[in-house]
Amino acid sequence: MKDALAYKPKNFWETADLAKRKAVAALAQRYVDFLSRCKTERETVSYVRERLAQNGYVEDFSAERVMCPLRGKALFAARRGAAPLDQGLALVAAHADSPRLDFKQRPFVEQAGVAQAKTHYYGGIRKYQWLARPLALHGVVVRESGECLPVVVGEKPGEPVFCIADLLPHLAQDQVKKPVSEAFEAEKLNVILSHSRHRKVPATAEDEVKDPVKARLLELLHQKYGLEEEDFITAELQAVPAGPARFVGFDRTLVGAYGQDDRICLFTALEALLNAEATGRGMAVMFWDKEEIGSDGATGASSRFLQYCVEDLVRAWCPGALPSHVLLASRALSADVNGALDPDYQDVHEKQNAAVLGYGPVFCKFTGSRGKYGASEADAEFFGELRGLLNSKGIAWQVAELGKVDHGGGGTVALFLAALGMRVIDLGPAILSMHSPFELASTADVYATMQAYQAFFEAPVTPSC
Ligand code: MN
Ligand code: MN
Repeated sequence: MKDALAYKPKNFWETADLAKRKAVAALAQRYVDFLSRCKTERETVSYVRERLAQNGYVEDFSAERVMCPLRGKALFAARRGAAPLDQGLALVAAHADSPRLDFKQRPFVEQAGVAQAKTHYYGGIRKYQWLARPLALHGVVVRESGECLPVVVGEKPGEPVFCIADLLPHLAQDQVKKPVSEAFEAEKLNVILSHSRHRKVPATAEDEVKDPVKARLLELLHQKYGLEEEDFITAELQAVPAGPARFVGFDRTLVGAYGQDDRICLFTALEALLNAEATGRGMAVMFWDKEEIGSDGATGASSRFLQYCVEDLVRAWCPGALPSHVLLASRALSADVNGALDPDYQDVHEKQNAAVLGYGPVFCKFTGSRGKYGASEADAEFFGELRGLLNSKGIAWQVAELGKVDHGGGGTVALFLAALGMRVIDLGPAILSMHSPFELASTADVYATMQAYQAFFEAPVTPSC
């Protein structure tokens, strides 16, 4: 009886009947297909545009359902709710970029009989995880004429993949004694692209080619795509893990894939927006780029793009209202992932305040580190309102901090939304192996997160809020 007073997070599976498990599996299959197709922010935004267009969203702020993409890398979309816009928006914000290896502007080098691409990593990676594994190449090359050539190589069966070689254990005796932070150097993250060269014709020593492998590679790139080396200076090419997302485990209830931080939140937010009934505030999603490198840049959350979109929306939907008042009345979920309690590294977490797979999306009241530094902390009032909302719908949720005090930490886009005056809290699923080439998420959490975002969109405006 006394136990009834104690708080206990609810495991999703324990209350999931057969019909619910089927719904989870169906959503998970769509999620796996999405992850297999969308490995860059550009590919993700183009997927979102397609889905929104199929559902009646147009690039016109006066419409009931509007989308506004920015440079193919970020996107705002909104849909009229039951309440007028001066009551604020219900906004879910996620990011479409993920850690990866970007090609340098002059990538091609030849050494030791192979042609390689030099890279500059993007976001927080553990460098050794990118060695000795198949990589695909995604991105765009922009020609002098302005023409933009999309590139995806290494995903279809039969297509070649690329790879960074790792040191053999026999010769790693010095390397293994170094700390991990020093053992793997960024300037050694060079992606092998080719190794053949032309047949050597005798008696032409005077036109000896300096880098014959690189020369052959450039020739192939010219034959296949009509590109010259200078074209790669104005390219955005990203080396990402090759191959589709997969189900993991005998029960197929984990998804293993690259880029789930933060496409898991983006996907579930999009699904929620498309499923939701218009019973509350105007609904909006904001999908950012650049979160993994600090949110700067025109397509990142520190830009004014969201503010501009809200201003346009106010002009179209609620002329006379002040955009600043709409922002102050808005409620936002900073939809980003949390680190799940790692079964093998439990000591880095403070277990009572750590997230566990299968317990639904995770509220994170504040992020930041070392005494909440750099955090945007949510109000208890807003948190309480959301807790009541999810409990009233029987949706699983949990609460966590990222790691032990003074050991963990991290940032999300919450502080940028808070700076606009919105009430905001972080809410997203927990994942294992975050930022790795093969992150793991629970299909139960995918489903519960979608439910939570949908409930947030549909929440009626009550006099207290
Ligand atoms: Mn993230
Ligand atoms: Mn991240």
